[in-house]
Amino acid sequence: VAKGAGKNQWRRYQRHLHAEMVERLELRSALDHAVNEGHFLLHYQPIVDLVTGYAVGFEALVRWAHPSRGVITPEEFIEVAEESGLIVPMGRWVLEEALRTVSEWRRILPPGGAPYVSVNVSVRQFREAGFVEQVRNALHHTGVPPQSLMLEITETLLMKDDEQRIWADLSVLREMGIRIAIDDFGTGYSSLGYLRQRPIDIVKIDKTFIDDMVTSPQLVGGIVSLARSLQLVVVAEGIEDMAHRDLLVRMGCPLGQGFLFSSPLGPTEVLAWMTSASVAV
Ligand code: C2E
Ligand code: MG
Ligand code: MG
Ligand code: MG
Repeated sequence: VAKGAGKNQWRRYQRHLHAEMVERLELRSALDHAVNEGHFLLHYQPIVDLVTGYAVGFEALVRWAHPSRGVITPEEFIEVAEESGLIVPMGRWVLEEALRTVSEWRRILPPGGAPYVSVNVSVRQFREAGFVEQVRNALHHTGVPPQSLMLEITETLLMKDDEQRIWADLSVLREMGIRIAIDDFGTGYSSLGYLRQRPIDIVKIDKTFIDDMVTSPQLVGGIVSLARSLQLVVVAEGIEDMAHRDLLVRMGCPLGQGFLFSSPLGPTEVLAWMTSASVAV
């Protein structure tokens, strides 16, 4: 009996694995189609000055406009996009679209008043030959100055391999005047010491640390003060309540992002948010 039960369990497990594989393959082919058809859009979340509430920049966050399922967030597809390499053409579109949007903001808003746009870049994109050239060309043909662009690279991805080449590319991009941010800081193994002497301007502290901050503020406090001594600007991610914002201000954290200020906004909502936020402050 026990043997038979084990066999059934094994079969169920096999069927489960098979179903999962089929699901991934289907997702991959649907994603491939979406890349070819351009079924993506960007939402923008403000990166705000924690004291004034003004947006200094906006993070571009990709969404899949699925014809039947509606708008799908990256948790559901970014992993498959990475594995399959589809992140490369998708990322190219994201960069171009984000730059078109910021050039629009620059056209509409008073001189010097336009925030920068921050784009998430996968390590896969850096591994493609010519990524630096791609960024340079995109800036050139959209007419956006490098100062209006920030690139985010996640800490955990950076630790994997081809580190040296990626740092070399980042340093060229930074010398052009593009801001470089380390995303999800604290989730990997790197210490701020490791980031010393690296071509970085900004460190984004992962939401998990912000969530725990009221009960254990030492960790975030430590990151903020060390970052300041290294002349890095800190952005706190995922701020959802006022108590966290107040604590961060007291710690000397200059910038933050989170639902407290705004969730990611569609392209038309962004302009409305910018104008209403400046009136409110
Ligand atoms: P991320 O870069 O760390 O982006 C922040 C994520 O946290 C976003 O999720 C945002 O909507 C969410 N968020 C912001 N504030 C709050 C808050 O107060 N509370 C909570 N609970 N969540 C908040 P989203 O848009 O689902 O993106 C997830 C991840 O997908 C991003 O994490 C980023 O790693 C990746 N991603 C998004 N767009 C792109 C892209 O164009 N290229 C690449 N390579 N990755 C992307
Ligand atoms: Mg990010
Ligand atoms: Mg992040
Ligand atoms: Mg994060």
